[in-house]
Amino acid sequence: MDDVILRVAGINKRFGGLQALDDVNLEVQRNSVHAIIGPNGAGKSTLLNCFVGRLAPDSGTVMFDGTSLLGIKPHQINQAGVARVFQTPEIFEDESLVENVMIPAFAKRDGAFSLSFWSRVDGQKEIRDQAMAMLEDVGLAQKSEQHAGSLSRGDKRRLELAMCLVQDPKLLLLDEPTAGMSRADTNTTIDLLKRIGNDRNVTKIVIEHDMHVVFSLADKISVLAQGTVIAEDVPDKIKGNPKVQEAYLGGAHL
Ligand code: ADP
Ligand code: MG
Repeated sequence: MDDVILRVAGINKRFGGLQALDDVNLEVQRNSVHAIIGPNGAGKSTLLNCFVGRLAPDSGTVMFDGTSLLGIKPHQINQAGVARVFQTPEIFEDESLVENVMIPAFAKRDGAFSLSFWSRVDGQKEIRDQAMAMLEDVGLAQKSEQHAGSLSRGDKRRLELAMCLVQDPKLLLLDEPTAGMSRADTNTTIDLLKRIGNDRNVTKIVIEHDMHVVFSLADKISVLAQGTVIAEDVPDKIKGNPKVQEAYLGGAHL
């Protein structure tokens, strides 16, 4: 098996006059946590959007486990084993937590993402049990019958994580998973992400502003600035990299 699960080469993306991504190359090791950091507007979310079919790059290749992720539909990318936690939680606010997790579980089983699953009774109990086990895993089992809209921001992110994990992904993309969280919620999320890595063989790509999170989780860090990867290294070496320090001058601190 190839040790590299995601191989990104020569990605360019332009928005009008702005070169948002400029010849981005990236290799992500299987079962690792790979962080992508960089100042605001560096192109991090744009890059992630190219991996999940939300944006089509102008040029370049994205190979996931030997399959190209370009030119296929988001649900096919999902089916191939790539799941994503969005920068803003995308949950069904009016549904209960367990129903929120059942929706992607049905989708995984039936091969499409549609609310028409509710008309199906087939296998409801198994799917519900699976969803409950997942909620247990992320620490939300007690709230399973509450409406998702009633959750705190931290809990919403945990719910979203459960919705991703129930699909049993090989690659999990996390865009600022602790954005807007209290320090306590952030630490719980760090522990959760570490645990998920250990017992599930999920490779993770994490975009994150919070350096405490990055240095707690990452095996490797790529630094993006103005659409270009300016450094890639293990966390200890990234801190002292002069190019990285320069990119962050006047912005976030390492
Ligand atoms: P980051 O996630 O690193 O903060 P983004 O990838 O969101 O950065 O944005 C990179 C640059 O591309 C920014 O200058 C942003 O304004 C621009 N950009 C992002 N998405 C679009 C879009 N859909 N249309 C035009 N410009 C965009
Ligand atoms: Mg972003």
